[in-house]
Order: sequence, then C-alpha cells, then structure tokens
Amino acid sequence: MSDCCNTPGLQSMEQALKQIISSCPTMSGFENVSVKKSLHRVLYTDIQSNINVPPFRNSSMDGYALPYPYDTKKSLRITGTSWAGHPFQGSVAKDECVRIFTGAQLPNDCDCVVMQENVRAQEDTIQLTTPVCKYENIRNIGDDIQLDTIILHKGRTLTPVDLGLIASCGIADVTVYRKLNIAFFSTGDELVPIGSTLGTGQIYDSNRYTLHALIEELGAQAIDLGVIPDQADAIEEALLAASKNNDVIITTGGVSVGEADYIVDVLAKIGQVDLWKIAIKPGKPLAFGLINNCRFFGLPGNPVSTLVTFQQIVRPALENMMGLNRSSALVEVQATALSAIQKIAGRKEFQRGIVKTINKQLIVEPSGGQGSHILSSLSKANCYLVLEPDCTGIKEGEQVTIQLFS
Ligand code: AMP
Ligand code: MG
Repeated sequence: MSDCCNTPGLQSMEQALKQIISSCPTMSGFENVSVKKSLHRVLYTDIQSNINVPPFRNSSMDGYALPYPYDTKKSLRITGTSWAGHPFQGSVAKDECVRIFTGAQLPNDCDCVVMQENVRAQEDTIQLTTPVCKYENIRNIGDDIQLDTIILHKGRTLTPVDLGLIASCGIADVTVYRKLNIAFFSTGDELVPIGSTLGTGQIYDSNRYTLHALIEELGAQAIDLGVIPDQADAIEEALLAASKNNDVIITTGGVSVGEADYIVDVLAKIGQVDLWKIAIKPGKPLAFGLINNCRFFGLPGNPVSTLVTFQQIVRPALENMMGLNRSSALVEVQATALSAIQKIAGRKEFQRGIVKTINKQLIVEPSGGQGSHILSSLSKANCYLVLEPDCTGIKEGEQVTIQLFS
C-alpha cells in the first residue's frame, strides 16, 4: 500500500478510488424490459428512432390552416375540418381555409395556421384580423426527432423523460444491463432490528436501512442478509454463502483493528484484501477485496461513515460495474464559510453543512455535530464541506469547496 502524502499507512482517496474502480469492471449481462419497467435502468445499447417525430406536419394551435400567400382583403371560405387523429382529406384552394385543431395533420395545400383568436369567423368564412407568416404555427416532420437519430446512448440511466422520449418513437422494449445483485449485512453484537425493544447496551441497526435505500436508489437489487454477530465463524459463513450468487457484498462494522473486528481477517482467509485504510474522514477503515468472483466492501459501522464511504467510494465503483457512462458524483462549487471550520491536516474530510444563498452568494455553515455517530446532522445537511488532506482549517469568510446533495 502506498502512503498518502500526509498520513503514513493511509492511501489517498483518489488513489484508492482509482484502484477500486479498475477492480470493478463493467459486467456483461443484459435483459430486455418493457419501457414501463425501465426507469433507472442502464441502457445496454444505443436507442435509434425508426420514425420521424412528429411523423407528419401538424398544427400547434387551434385555428385555421390556409395556403400561403393569401389575399389579405378577401375572406376565406371554410372548406372542412382537420381534427387531431382525423385529418382533412380534400384539397384547399387559394381563397379557402380549413378549421384545424392542435395536433391535427396539416392539409397538403396549406402553409400556415392562423390562431382562432386572430380571425373574425362568420358562418362558413373567416377574415384575418392579424396577418400570419408562412409556416407560422406549424410543427414540421422530424422537428423533435429525425428518422435514424440515436436518441439515447448506451450507458445512460433512464429517467422519466427518457421513458417518454422512447415511447414517442413507438419503441416498446429496451435492452438494459441486468441488475447488479448486492447483498449486505450489518455486523455487531450490540445491534437489534427496528421494531424490537432495546436491551442494556444495545442500539438499533440503522445502517441496513440506509444501505437498502442507497442500493435501491442506484437501481440495483438489494439483498438484505440481516445482522451477523461479532464472531469470525458466523461472518465467514455469511460471506461465503453470499459470494456464491451475488455480484457485490457490502458489510458495515467490524472493519477496524479492535478485538471484536473480524472482517479483514476473515476476508484475508477466504478471499483477498486489496485495500484497507483510506485517508478520509469519516471512514478511515474501509476494506475492499474479492471473495470468489464477488466484490467485497467492508464499510465502517458508524452511520455517517457508512454513508460517506458509500457515496464517495462504493457508489462510483458500483456505477462502473453497472455500465454507467456518466458519473453521478455530487456537483462541487465554492461557498463562503459563515464561521471558522476546524480541521487537522492528514485526511480528506467530508463535513456536513447547510448552504444558503444570501445576497446572491453561497454561504455555508456546519449543520451540527460532526461526530461520525451523529446521523441527525447529516439529515439536516444539504451539502458536504470538502476539506483536502493538507487543509488545516478554514477561517470565517474564506472560500471552501462544497458538494451539493441536489
Ligand atoms: P464498528 O465499526 O463495528 O467498530 O462500529 C463503530 C460504531 O458504529 C459503534 O458505535 C457501533 O455501535 C456503531 N454501529 C455499527 N454498526 C451499526 C449499525 N448497523 N447501525 C448503527 N450503528 C452501528
Ligand atoms: Mg462493531
């Protein structure tokens, strides 16, 4: 393990991330799913449109379609109606027009549509009260999507808008990467599941619920294996079983060097430890390795450490495995510190902050206690303050890098 510049024995987050991502190659499996089922899935192939959208010239207004040019002094005879879904079939002469509604096909002879508000209509004639230009209020063939265009590229995570876009081309099924199977469990004799009563020295297991949500949010299959006690045998058994039919295993807790921390020893026994201890705060002890063909992430147990290490390290690696071509890394901007921020040189720190816009300036302050057991301050936060390893604190009024949560 190479040392981080400031902290012997620790690897910098950037080095660690590079190493982990290169050990988490994109998987090859795919499946066909209906458009309805494809939200948040990652495209395995480009999607090409086999049609023009719109497929025919149509009106963007309720009004009257007419040939251009027209005689401004004369009134025009209404010769028929073009409804959405029921086009007008006849021809339209120079001094004629057709009543037309939004989305209805434009008759071949017509070149523009005058809004109904801009005419004086009589029984079967109209007189324009405002002039209309050639092509006005007309949507052309392929205005939105041209025939044979690639509308979405391989590696994209599908959004609600994308589903509409695919449907507008008449495509019913899409090919997506198969879902990553991610098994996870908590370790710790002190942990009890929610819904039960706390005994002496016990706490509720919160990490499993956070992880479940983070995995689902990513569009992967979350396989909850519960709480495993602080016993090497039990951990070994759980890891070996999970490694047989999952792509990834994530555990929380027991990854440090205490007497009740078994994760790294067990990983070394049944698999391979690639990396341990990264120069970030919170989250220093983090194990990454391989069990059979399954990637393993051992995250620290403190709830904030679990979250930060997942977001900063695990998520980019999983995204690479899932075939994503665009990272969903949090956007970084600069903000002004409202008060001084404490920091000791050595590790890259992610402090929890609240950023506000005051007089068009981004102003940030800590969202509360920064202990890695204090989840409430992360819940209140809307950004991380990102403090590089060599930073020794930020003075009031200085610029600081923040990562926005949304
Ligand atoms: P560990 O990483 O096992 O040394 O645990 C560090 C701290 O995180 C301890 O205070 C644990 O009680 C706490 N902890 C570990 N796992 C969980 C969990 N699943 N939910 C909430 N707290 C946890
Ligand atoms: Mg523990």
